[in-house]
Amino acid sequence: MTVLAGGKVVTPDGVVANASVTVEAGRITDISRGPAPSGAVDLAGKWLLPGFIDLHTHGGGGHDVTGSPEDMSAAVAFHRRHGTTRTLVSLAAAAPSSLIEGLGWVTDMVDAGSGQFGHVIGAHLEGPFLADSRRGAQNPAHLLMPDRNTFAKLVEAARGALRSVTIAPELPGALELIGDIVEAGAVAAIGHTDATYDQARAGIDAGATLATHLFNGMRPVHHREPGVVWAALVSGITCEVINDGVHVHPAVTTLVGNVPGRLVLITDAIQAAGLSDGDFTVGGLHIQVVNGQARLAGTDTLCGSTLTMDAALRRAVTECSLPIEMASAAASANPARVLGIDDDCGAIVVGRAADLVVLDQDLMVVGVMADGEWDAPYPGPMA
Ligand SMILES: [Zn+2]
Repeated sequence: MTVLAGGKVVTPDGVVANASVTVEAGRITDISRGPAPSGAVDLAGKWLLPGFIDLHTHGGGGHDVTGSPEDMSAAVAFHRRHGTTRTLVSLAAAAPSSLIEGLGWVTDMVDAGSGQFGHVIGAHLEGPFLADSRRGAQNPAHLLMPDRNTFAKLVEAARGALRSVTIAPELPGALELIGDIVEAGAVAAIGHTDATYDQARAGIDAGATLATHLFNGMRPVHHREPGVVWAALVSGITCEVINDGVHVHPAVTTLVGNVPGRLVLITDAIQAAGLSDGDFTVGGLHIQVVNGQARLAGTDTLCGSTLTMDAALRRAVTECSLPIEMASAAASANPARVLGIDDDCGAIVVGRAADLVVLDQDLMVVGVMADGEWDAPYPGPMA
């Protein structure tokens, strides 16, 4: 049994000051106020938040998830040091044979449970059924029109671990495929799309419940053709935002984040996260990172980010003026809900998994607990 006492605990009912959170057998078993029991871990002056759930990551710490199974687990471990206790591994458009191989690695990690891999929830396929005109840094050689047979093979390869698929709803056959995605038990996400408002609404009516990095990789808002962005905001689906201050203006995050339950902070991180600026290869394309911003070499096209979830949350509070409860929900409870795992994790509530992040007064990570186990001895120097 571990008791974490004296911290400012961020719960779904608000911040509870000077609370004690008890952890037993990997679950939260008690939240109470009052004097700390002897032997409690002293969190005075610290924040205690639910562990972050990242729906969208391609790598980190020098590791690209498509490199090898070892790279995939090392990237997950890198992000766990930044507070991410559950991860969807994102596979960008690639040849179906490569996607099938990558899905197999993800499935092995899901089957391995928490342990050394952290919690990999499953895979996010970012493609291959995307609009070429809004492909961003996706490799055009690997984009496909929606194809139910190809998709069925991917579902089979994932053995239940496929949890999210990004698709452009305006492509021929996309609405049927959205039905297949939902049928397969995955979240259909609208993204890398040139859809009009009406086309996006059709995708939402067909079952899409998430927008992939809202504003990025989609037609910009116009008041006479407000496109996917407006369809997502008006319909009430959940919206991913890359809150690095580069992909969207901080005020955009403020707007989306002030709608309860709407915002999901993601990293969309590539292997360069956590490294110095330099040159990288992502999906066979040459990427240059300058001032922490990753772009296709020689262009203005952004290619993922170098973000970590703690930085995304920190910026949401400091740059976007979101209350910490709203920022925390966007990093944990909201992604848990869209995945349908909110009964198990994503909030500091008795009975949920003891996935916890300790932040200091400057919102820097000083401790990460996953399933009741510290990622590194607490307190210790974190990433
Ligand atoms: Zn991505």
